[in-house]
Amino acid sequence: MSGGWAGSNRRAELPRDWYTHIRPFVLARDEHRCRNRIDGRVCGRRANQVDHIGDRDNHRPENLQALCEDCHAKKSSAQGNAARWAVRRQRPKERHPGLL
Ligand SMILES: [Zn+2]
Repeated sequence: MSGGWAGSNRRAELPRDWYTHIRPFVLARDEHRCRNRIDGRVCGRRANQVDHIGDRDNHRPENLQALCEDCHAKKSSAQGNAARWAVRRQRPKERHPGLL
């Protein structure tokens, strides 16, 4: 699943230097590794996405983290859908392919 963010107007909200400076900076800072935590452990797979940890209008590096495609898609689909996420969290844990 690719998630729905690519087709949204989110791109228009990003600062002009997102792709030239901010995004490469965050990926380099995080060593191109996914910083998402799964059961307390860092995912660590190759990251090619940059995600807003909190406020999506805050583009400061401390509010940004590198994520792999899977984690970014999961987080994006969870955002704005807190009710469904709450239900999903009660389901049994899925094995994460990155932890094999
Ligand atoms: Zn990940």
